[in-house]
Formats: sequence, structure tokens, C-alpha cells
Amino acid sequence: MSSPVAHSLTGYLIYRLTVRQDETDRWPPLWAYIAMANFPDIDIVFGFLQNTPFQYHHESIANSIGMALGFTLCAWCCTRIHPSGRHWQRAWLFFILYSSHIVLDFFGSGRAVPLLWPLDARTYINPLGFMPGFVKNNTSNVEFVASLIHIWNGIVVLMECAIFLPALYLVERWRGRHSIKAPPGGNE
Ligand SMILES: [Zn+2]
Repeated sequence: MSSPVAHSLTGYLIYRLTVRQDETDRWPPLWAYIAMANFPDIDIVFGFLQNTPFQYHHESIANSIGMALGFTLCAWCCTRIHPSGRHWQRAWLFFILYSSHIVLDFFGSGRAVPLLWPLDARTYINPLGFMPGFVKNNTSNVEFVASLIHIWNGIVVLMECAIFLPALYLVERWRGRHSIKAPPGGNE
């Protein structure tokens, strides 16, 4: 399982890769990037409703390319209310953010995911399993939340930071060398 920290850092990394140096009116804003990068974990809510938080987690179609495309289509519809245009550009940004979660979970969840749904209903698991998993207890909501407070989970988050923070540093250096500026006459 990749933690929300890893997904949020991925969202931030994509934000820094796409935001312009001099842009003050960024849309979507940073919080939307981070929300989108975490969105596929919405399936945990259904488990919480049944007092078994991990019952559906990562095994639902939320972790599929089909859902990522469906969500992209919804995002495209929503972005059409924005007056600036560039709707498909913004929608594909959502696709990249959503897909980043699926890719990260595929390598880090330890559970088979319906990666290719609806083309293929089978679930797939990463045979390498090189990302460390969380310690968790799925017997009830309370046990689950309590089980997250574990020294190993803290180590996992530190390991994720050790992967993503150097990547962020490299992105910032790249931005310093290749400043992305808005064209004259506006932010778009
Ligand atoms: Zn996830």
C-alpha cells in the first residue's frame, strides 16, 4: 500500500511540473491536484460503511484504467464551465493524476487490482512487490485506525519521502533552469 503521503507527494510533483513560474491564478489549484492523486482510494469509504475498511480497497474498479478514463471524461465535462478553454488539456491532467495513483498502488499495494477493467475483469498483481506495505488490522474501523499508528508505518512513510523528496528536488532544479513563463497578455 502506498500511503496518502506518497500519493500527495506525487500530486505535488505533477503540480510543480505543470505550474508556471509566474502563475498566481492556477487552476486547478494545488489542493485539487492532491485530491485527484488520492481519489482512487475512495473505495475505502465503502469498506468503512461495513466496518471492514480494507474489504474493497484496491480491489474495486476505482483502481482501473477504465475508471481513470471515465473520470477524465467527467473532469472534461466539469472543466467546460471554466471560461479559459483548454478543457482537454485540463482533463488529461486529471487522467495523469488519477493514473499516477493506480501505478503507485500496482507496485505498492500487495493486492491484485483490476488494472484493465472493463477490457479485462481479471485482477493483476505486481510480481516484484518492491514497495513496502503498511501494517494494518481490518477487523473493524476502530482497529484499523488504531493499527495505523505503528512504528513500521512511520518507517514506510520515511522510505516514501526518501524516494519522492529527491525527485521533487530534481524537479525544482529543472524548473530553475527552464523557467515556464506564461505568454504575454495573461495567465493562460
Ligand atoms: Zn490506493
